[in-house]
Amino acid sequence: MELRAFGRTGLNLSALSLGTMRCLQSPETVAAVLERAIAVGINHVETARGYGNSEVFLGRAIAAGGWRDRLVLTTKFLPGTAAAELDRQIDDSLTRLRVDHLDCVAVHGVNRADHLQWLRGETGGVAALLRARDDGRIGHLGFSSHGPLDIVQGAIATDWVEFANLHYHYFWQRNAPAVTQARDRGLGIFIISPADKGGQLYAPPDRLRDLCAPLDPLAIAYRFLLARPEITTLSTGPATPTELDAMVATLGEQTGPLTADEQAAIARLEQQHRTALGSDACGQCFACLPCPEAINIPEVLRLRNLAIAYDMDAYGRYRYGMFENAGHWFPGRRGDRCTDCGDCLPRCPHNLDIPALLRDTHDRLHQTFGRRLWG
Ligand code: SF4
Ligand code: SF4
Repeated sequence: MELRAFGRTGLNLSALSLGTMRCLQSPETVAAVLERAIAVGINHVETARGYGNSEVFLGRAIAAGGWRDRLVLTTKFLPGTAAAELDRQIDDSLTRLRVDHLDCVAVHGVNRADHLQWLRGETGGVAALLRARDDGRIGHLGFSSHGPLDIVQGAIATDWVEFANLHYHYFWQRNAPAVTQARDRGLGIFIISPADKGGQLYAPPDRLRDLCAPLDPLAIAYRFLLARPEITTLSTGPATPTELDAMVATLGEQTGPLTADEQAAIARLEQQHRTALGSDACGQCFACLPCPEAINIPEVLRLRNLAIAYDMDAYGRYRYGMFENAGHWFPGRRGDRCTDCGDCLPRCPHNLDIPALLRDTHDRLHQTFGRRLWG
C-alpha cells in the first residue's frame, strides 16, 4: 500500500489507516483484523481511550504478534481534562497498549469554543500533553474535530499542533478551507470515516452506483480525497478481516491526480445534483445561520440534497436521527423545530423557502428510534 508523508512529523503512513471501533467483539477479532491489516501494508492504527477495550485488546495483539516496530500508533484523549488527570491517563494508555511511547496523540473532539480554549492552553490541562511530548512518552500531537469550520480552523492554527483528523468528504466539503489551511501549515491530514460518515458508501443506493459505474462509489470517495497529496491517510473501520480486504480492494492501485474516468463520474454526480434539485438545491454556503431555534439548516438541507439527487435516504435517516441525540458531536436541532420566524430568509443567496424545505426533509427522513444511539 502507498505510504504518504504525514505533514512535517517525519512519519510515513499508509493511505488507509486501521480504526478499531468496530472490531472490538473480542481480543481474537482485534488480533485477526490487525494481522490482516499488517499483511496488506497498513502501518497506522488508531484507537482512543473512549473506545471500550480497544487499547487493551490492541496492546495484547501487538505484543503477541511482535508488531510494535511495524506500526504507528495513535490514541486520543478528551479535551477539558485537568493536567494531573491527563498525565495519569497518558501513563494508563501506555500500560494498556503495552508500549513505552505513543507515536501520535490526538485531542479527541475539539468541537466547541471551550475545547478550543483548552487546546490553546488557556485552562492549563494541555500542559500535560506538551510535557509528555518533551519527555518522550508522546511522539507527535494533533487533534480531531467534528465541529464547525471556525473551531477547526482555530485548532489548526494552534502552534504545537502537528496533525489534524478531519471530516472532509466528496458529499461534505465544508472543511475544504481547513484542509488547505492544514496543508499550508505543514500538518499531517487524517480523514475520518470516508465510508460511513461520508455517505454509508459501503452500501450505496442503486442510483448512486449507476452514476459512478463502472467505478464504485466508495472508490470515487477514496480517490477524491487521495488525489490531493496533502491528505495523508483515510480511516477505515472493518469489523472483520474480510471487510478490510474489501476496503483495500476498493482503494485499488491508483495514485496521483484523478483519472479521466474518475473525473467523468464526478461530473455525472454534479449534473444529477443540478437536474434533480433544480432551484431547491441548498448551496451549503451557511449564510442562513444562526437560527434562533438552533436548527442546523445547512446540514438538514444537505441530507435533503443527497436523498433527492442520489436516493441516499438511508444515509439521510441515519444522520438526521443524530440531531438532538449526539451533543457536540453532531450539533443543532431538527427541521421540524422551525417556527417560521423568517430570520434566515433574507440571508439565503438562493432565495430558498427554507421553512418549507426543512419540513419536507423532516417528513422524508425522520424516524423514531427505539433507543438512544449516541451519548
Ligand atoms: S424561519 Fe425557521 S429555520 Fe429560519 S431562522 Fe426562523 S426558525 Fe430558523
Ligand atoms: S443560506 Fe441558503 S443555500 Fe446557503 S446553506 Fe443556508 S439554505 Fe443553503
